[in-house]
Amino acid sequence: MRTITIKPKAITHNLNQVKKLAPQSKVLAMVKSNAYGHGVAAVLPALTQADGIGVATFAEALEARQLGWNKTIGLVEGAFTADEWQQAIEQDVSCVIHHLPQLEWALDNVPPADSATHVVWLKYNTGMNRLGFNAEGVMAAAKRLHEAGYKLILTTHFANADNHDHPLNALQIQRFTDALTALREVVSADIKGSLCNSAGTVNFSEYHYDWVRPGIILYGSSPVIDKTAQDLDLQPAMDFSAQIIALQTVKANDAIGYGSRWVAQQDTKTALVSVGYGDGYPRVVSDDAYVSVIDSTTNQRYPCAVIGRVAMDMIVIDISTVPDDMALLNSQVMLWGDTPRIDEVAVHADTISYELLCRVTMRPKRLLA
Ligand SMILES: *Cc1c(COP(=O)(O)O)cnc(C)c1O
Repeated sequence: MRTITIKPKAITHNLNQVKKLAPQSKVLAMVKSNAYGHGVAAVLPALTQADGIGVATFAEALEARQLGWNKTIGLVEGAFTADEWQQAIEQDVSCVIHHLPQLEWALDNVPPADSATHVVWLKYNTGMNRLGFNAEGVMAAAKRLHEAGYKLILTTHFANADNHDHPLNALQIQRFTDALTALREVVSADIKGSLCNSAGTVNFSEYHYDWVRPGIILYGSSPVIDKTAQDLDLQPAMDFSAQIIALQTVKANDAIGYGSRWVAQQDTKTALVSVGYGDGYPRVVSDDAYVSVIDSTTNQRYPCAVIGRVAMDMIVIDISTVPDDMALLNSQVMLWGDTPRIDEVAVHADTISYELLCRVTMRPKRLLA
């Protein structure tokens, strides 16, 4: 059986790591894209110590409300229509305002002062060049929103926070700091700030401001290029496992799988694992990709190379590292979890952990640890 096991205790542990890194800031825990594939319902109970959650679509905000989340919900792309702005008011959701149409909807339809929608995350484009007002636009928008009674959080998003030394980081920090200072002088001293995603929270401790917005770090993956999840004392929140359903010895010079891509150099003992890209394991992985065969009596893990093409329903692994006397049929195999960590699999698949987590499919059985 293929299983995705979600570990709420790991998420709470990782949230506490964030709180240790940013003890002065509130935490907007990002649960967009079904909580990075973990399932919103599975993770919300682990996030009760967060000050709010962040989502990208109104449907995601609604799901969290229906699940009983009664603290802040931040909608990071804001309302897409005037109707959604009205819905945000009804559901008590705080929105990003990143362009003029959203500003007009907000000025045309001002929620009561005690509404969460009365707090606006005003987005400043400091160099990512996706969403946000420029320097003059952000000042003008802040003035109008403030006059209409809104409370403001100035926000922006890093483009390269994973790489501490990237030159754009200093520039984005400078632009953000300058704008926040100007807004506090000209518009209101009460304006709050929010700059850091997970990587910013790790790399730029001087600039946490009022709210940090961690995502990937909560799920146990390292957000920065020069530190591993272990270096940051993060625990993986998702175990992805499957089982061995057949064993074979492949003769020297024989090939395995589609395209006969992998050819045995010598007689090789192999196992068939019932999992593939139909479950969310990446189809293209490098030759150093491996999984762990688990000895159920000792819990020992044996790394085994993935050989041949990953198919929809199966992969083949080289079990020459596993002791001869171990009973392997139906043994559990870990695709990611404690070993390998998802960050390693992401390197082998030439992608990032975020994508692997978001693209696990509906087929694996979902369990809660
Ligand atoms: C997704 C998102 C985050 C979290 O990013 P991570 O890299 O996962 O920490 C923070 N802020 C905004 C606006 C986002 O959209």
